[in-house]
Amino acid sequence: MSLINLKDLLNHASKNKYAVGAFNVTSMTFIDPIIEAAIESNSPVIMQLAEVHFRYLNLEHIAPAIIRAAREVNVPVCINLDHGKNFETIIRAIRAGFTSVMFDCSAEPLEVNIARTKEIVKIAHSVGVGVEGEIGNIGGEVVGTAAPTPHEANVESFTKVEDAIRFYEETGVDALAISVGNVHGTYKGEPNLDFERIDKINKAIPIPLVLHGGSGIPDADFKKAISLGISKINFYTEMSASAVKAARNFLNENPECISYADLSKIVQADIKKTVMNRMEVFGSKNITAADKTLCISCDEVSCGLEDPKLKPQANTIVYDTLVEMISKEVLGNIKK
Ligand SMILES: [Zn+2]
Repeated sequence: MSLINLKDLLNHASKNKYAVGAFNVTSMTFIDPIIEAAIESNSPVIMQLAEVHFRYLNLEHIAPAIIRAAREVNVPVCINLDHGKNFETIIRAIRAGFTSVMFDCSAEPLEVNIARTKEIVKIAHSVGVGVEGEIGNIGGEVVGTAAPTPHEANVESFTKVEDAIRFYEETGVDALAISVGNVHGTYKGEPNLDFERIDKINKAIPIPLVLHGGSGIPDADFKKAISLGISKINFYTEMSASAVKAARNFLNENPECISYADLSKIVQADIKKTVMNRMEVFGSKNITAADKTLCISCDEVSCGLEDPKLKPQANTIVYDTLVEMISKEVLGNIKK
């Protein structure tokens, strides 16, 4: 199935009432367990690299590894840039083969956010890359060795329905990250999602909605949020904390261990477990199973998943095919 554009993937999720987990990759260690979880769960998956994590990874080195892994599997994989804040980062991600970019200009006034996001959408769409925008501000923090300071959602920065409508109409983004009581990192007290607001935004604009700050939200709340229009859920802090705990337990039980390779295997097994568990809660498990009648490419009852690019009615343009098409057109024009 290979790589898939964010728009096609999330439209399918939105139509079929499930959410695709977007798991942050902060080192090469994460790639295999996330891919394996997707294969074993028969689930689509989004792997994302956050600009704030660039201190831990090299975008140009890690992207080819994810693309290579995605090409070998039969589940749809989207590679997303998470919270791209600079124009340069967006272009680097597109050039590295990402099938989606999130442009986060949410700290700026709405007018500036709209103007700058619109520019990114024009560029990204011209090469078949999806764009996720954000309005309202999602607080919290995610970087550092210790647990992040717990944050409380700020009602003042919740996404307003009328802003969402204006932002969607003027920018043409493919998905929208909203602030509805969610925060990055860890929550101060119990998360308190504004479900009514999710429902209202979902009814007001025809694009899939994204929930950042998935760690710490109870499973029942996820399910309710998905039923009201959330189609992508960002999940990292809990996955990281659980992996560290597994590593710590292993080292406590094996104080003589000097094998990083073995430690890495423990971490990978834990990441895979967390991701598989989330796929089940998000309802994306078995979406691509052989006995499923849903097709991610065209929604036809019996077409299955193999080679969607050959299906004439397919809504999905697989990234590889798109590159091929563009190359052919460019070459054709040169020959003329
Ligand atoms: Zn986020």
